[in-house]
Amino acid sequence: MKWINKGHEYDAVFENIKKLEGIYLFGAGHDGAMVKDILDNRYKGIKVLGFIDNDINKKGMLYKGLHVYSFEEIKPKANIGIVISFASEFTCAIDAQLHKNGWIKEVNFFHYEMFLSVLAAYEYHQLFIPSISILPTTKCNLRCEACLNFTTYIKHFTDRPIERLKQDIDLFFQKVDYVGLLLISGGEPFLYEELPSLIQYVEEHYTDKIYSLETVTNGTVRPDEKVLKMLQKSRLKITVDDYRDALPEQSESIECNLNLLCKYAGRDRIIFRKYDEWIDLYPFPQKQLQDSELVEKYDSCHVPWQEFRDGKLFSCNYAAFASVAEITGEVDPSETYDFTAATKGSLKEIMEFRLGYSEKGYVEFCRQCAGYLEINEHKVRPAIQKGS
Ligand code: SF4
Repeated sequence: MKWINKGHEYDAVFENIKKLEGIYLFGAGHDGAMVKDILDNRYKGIKVLGFIDNDINKKGMLYKGLHVYSFEEIKPKANIGIVISFASEFTCAIDAQLHKNGWIKEVNFFHYEMFLSVLAAYEYHQLFIPSISILPTTKCNLRCEACLNFTTYIKHFTDRPIERLKQDIDLFFQKVDYVGLLLISGGEPFLYEELPSLIQYVEEHYTDKIYSLETVTNGTVRPDEKVLKMLQKSRLKITVDDYRDALPEQSESIECNLNLLCKYAGRDRIIFRKYDEWIDLYPFPQKQLQDSELVEKYDSCHVPWQEFRDGKLFSCNYAAFASVAEITGEVDPSETYDFTAATKGSLKEIMEFRLGYSEKGYVEFCRQCAGYLEINEHKVRPAIQKGS
């Protein structure tokens, strides 16, 4: 989205949020639980009436102490809203479902990233960031053809010095009051030797500002003793991408690593993730687009991830990764928000930037990139190795 009224882009949305007497959370799952917890404990005042879920098996259940309704049971009503409580890249179908049944976007239904960010900024004068990625290393032991970090293009793998990461984290939390998810990503984070120190630093200093601290691994790297010790003490959650179908020769060692993680972190802190198909971003011939079409492409992409690096928030993770992999040149400064120049008065601007606003309304890499999940036509099998 292109900035037209910087610092005031969500004034109208907040007016609509203020009218709400109660809301339903659409999605009785992980993100729904997070939104409910944050509304109960941090940004209070709006009554959560229950959950809605399209999964018929959840109908009538209690979730987080509230009733789960089917969508058909909840009709539009004055001053009642719906907050879609799962990541924005999966919400197109829900948007359409709500729209078809008389609900109006940003009037009586909202995505949680926007809802919580706007509520925090306008009502509490706080900066809420739904999620942020910190990348300690570009090193990875796999060479997935469709790696979204463009690992196969990287000529020089690098570890970021721990002191630089700590400076970034300190600067980030000087401006940010609360973050839904802080993701330590990569590369493969288990190849970063200072990972235990990094996690310890974040937990010692910023636990009260983070709902969920997570990392993600490809499951093929055996966590060393230092990491296992850290897992016992920490509350870090670990997403394990299950690539056993693509890497059958590593099945046994992956199984061993999973068992170790479960033993030391506890099964509850391990999130297993398996995709039947994945996407490839680059390189595919792209239509030449005018500025307005690029803005449209960026908006329809719903890329949910932004990286924080060297004091800057990047508008799109994948554009930042393309630059690191030297597919593109330096990222255009207008595609980043420089936290070193931010003041207290920048709160709403940063919030808008994190929700997708910028001067151009797109990033240069949109010209070359096939786009994130729903708009991407290039489906592939996950973790197929280059040259295999
Ligand atoms: S199209 Fe590609 S570069 Fe553009 S926002 Fe989406 S993922 Fe980022």
